Amino acid sequence: MKAPTQKCVIIRSSGVEPLDEKSHSLPARKNANQSRADMENKLIIQLIERLALSAQNHDTTLDEKLERLVTKLQSVSQVGSALTEAHDVEQYLLKNPISIKPALTELDKQTHLAAEKLQQFKSLPGAVRGNIREFLSRPSSEILRDHQDKLSLLVDFYQQLLNFQERPAPDYLRTHQQEPQAVTANIDSSSHKRICDELQRLITELDFAGEFGEALAQIRNRILTGINPHELASVCLEVINLIIDGTREERKASQAFLYSLNESLTSFHQTFCSSVSESRTLRNEQIEINEDLRARLRTMGLQVDNTNDLLQLKLSIQSQLKEITRLLSEKDSFEQREKELEKRLAEMENKLSLMKDETSEYKKRLSAQKHKLFLDSLTQVYNRAALDERLELEFKRWQRYDHPLCLAIVDIDHFKSINDNYGHMAGDKALKVIARALQKSLRDTDFIARFGGEEFVILMPNVETKDLQGPLEKLRETIKGIPFKFKDNRVSISVSIGATAFKEGDQPLDAFERADQSLYDAKHQGRDRVVLSI
Ligand code: GH3
Ligand code: MG
Ligand code: MG
Repeated sequence: MKAPTQKCVIIRSSGVEPLDEKSHSLPARKNANQSRADMENKLIIQLIERLALSAQNHDTTLDEKLERLVTKLQSVSQVGSALTEAHDVEQYLLKNPISIKPALTELDKQTHLAAEKLQQFKSLPGAVRGNIREFLSRPSSEILRDHQDKLSLLVDFYQQLLNFQERPAPDYLRTHQQEPQAVTANIDSSSHKRICDELQRLITELDFAGEFGEALAQIRNRILTGINPHELASVCLEVINLIIDGTREERKASQAFLYSLNESLTSFHQTFCSSVSESRTLRNEQIEINEDLRARLRTMGLQVDNTNDLLQLKLSIQSQLKEITRLLSEKDSFEQREKELEKRLAEMENKLSLMKDETSEYKKRLSAQKHKLFLDSLTQVYNRAALDERLELEFKRWQRYDHPLCLAIVDIDHFKSINDNYGHMAGDKALKVIARALQKSLRDTDFIARFGGEEFVILMPNVETKDLQGPLEKLRETIKGIPFKFKDNRVSISVSIGATAFKEGDQPLDAFERADQSLYDAKHQGRDRVVLSI
C-alpha cells in the first residue's frame, strides 16, 4: 500500500543573479538614480523569492499563489502586476494566518495513535515492534514533509504486519498433491477445520440426485483433499447455491408429479360426471321406449279385440308395427351406447387403479425420503438429526422410568493419516466398514449415529454403569481387529471411546460433555482405549 502523495508545488529557483559584487556594476548608459532603483528592486524581488521558497510546502493554496507571484517577479515585463499577486498572498495570509498548524498537530496526534494501535497486535514480529517503539519516541513534527515521512513509515509497518499475517497453510491442509509452500490468509485453523468438517458432513447428509448431487460430491472431495482458507467462503457459497438449485429441482419434480396427478383426477372427474349423466339419460330414454312399446302392444291388442273391419285392422297394425320397429332400432342404438359407456367406465376404472398405484409409489418414495433424512448416506447409520430425536426420546424415558441410560462417543484414531496416506476414497471406505462393524456389535435396543466426520455417538439404554466398560472394550477390539488393506498394506485402525451414564439432574448436554471430556482424556492417554466418566 502506498500513501497518497501530497500535492507539492515546486517553485523554480530564481533567474535573478545572486547578490555578488558583479551584479552591482550597472550598465553605463543608465543614470545613478536609475541604477540604485534597479538594484533595490532586484533586492526586494530576491528577498520575496527567498521568503516564498521558505514558505513552500505548508499549504497548497499558498504555494500556488507564491508560485504565481515569483513567476511574475522573474519576468521584467510583469513586475508591475506582481503587486496584485503580492496583495493576493497578503490577503490569503491575513485570512489564514495559522491554517496549517492545527492540521499538522492533529495529523501528528493521529499518526501517533495509529502507531500505538499497530503496537497492540499480539502477533507483531519483535523487530517491527522495536521500530514502532522508536517511532513513537520521536518528537512531534513541525513541518509537513516530516509528517509525510512518518506516514509512509507507518504504512510500511502496516504492510509488514500484513505480510506477517500471511503464512504457509497449516499442516493439516496440505496433502501430498499440494505445494507445501502454499500461502494462505491467517484464518484460525481450528475454525477452518470445523467449517470444513461441517461442510463435508452437510454434503454427505444431503442426498441430491443428478447433476446437483454430482457437483456436491465433487466439492466434498475437494474439501476432503484439503482446501485453503481463502477458498472457504467461495466453496460455502457454491454449496449454498447447489442446495438451493437442487431443492428447487426436487420441488419441481414433485410438483410436476402432483400437477399430473391433479390433471388426471380432474379429467377423470369430468368424464365420470358426464358418463353418469349420460347413463342416467340413457336409462330414462330406455324406460320411455319400453313404455312406448308396451303401450303400442296394448293398443294393438285392444284393436284386435274390438275391430271387425279386417282391412282397417291390417292398416292400423301395419302402422303400429312400423312404429314398434323404429322404437326397437332406437332401443338397439341405446344399447349400443350403453355398451360404449360401460367400456368407458371400465377404462376409467383401470385409470383409477393406475393412479392409485402411482400415488402409493409416491407415498413410498416420500417415506423413503423421510427415512433418508435421518440416515447418513455414506455410512448408512443414523445421522445427527436422528440422534437429536432419539436422544430426546431416550432422555424422557430415562426421566420417566429411571432406567439407566449410557452415552458413548467413538472417535477413530489418526483418521486424517488414512486420508493423507491412502486418499479420502480409502478413508470413506474405512468409515463405512467401521460404521457397519459398530452397528453389528450393538444390541437391537442400542442406537448409533454418525455425529461428525469420524465420530459416532452410541446410546445404550438399560445398561448399568458397572456393565458399561465390557461391551465398549469389546467394541474397541472389534474395530481394531478389522483387517484393513490399503495399497497392499495391512492397516489396523483403532478407536478411542469416551462414555458416561446419565446422572441425577443431567440434561442431555451435560452427559454429552462428560463423554466428550472422557474421549479427550482417552486421546491424551495415548488413544485406542475406553475412558469412562461415572
Ligand atoms: P485423532 O486421533 O486426534 O482423532 O486424529 P484424527 O486425525 O482422527 O482427527 P482429526 O480431527 O485431526 O481429523 C479427522 C479427519 O477425518 C480429518 C477429516 O478430513 C477426516 N474426515 C472427516 N469426515 C470424513 C469423511 O467423510 N471421509 C473421509 N475420507 N475423511 C473424513
Ligand atoms: Mg474427531
Ligand atoms: Mg479422530
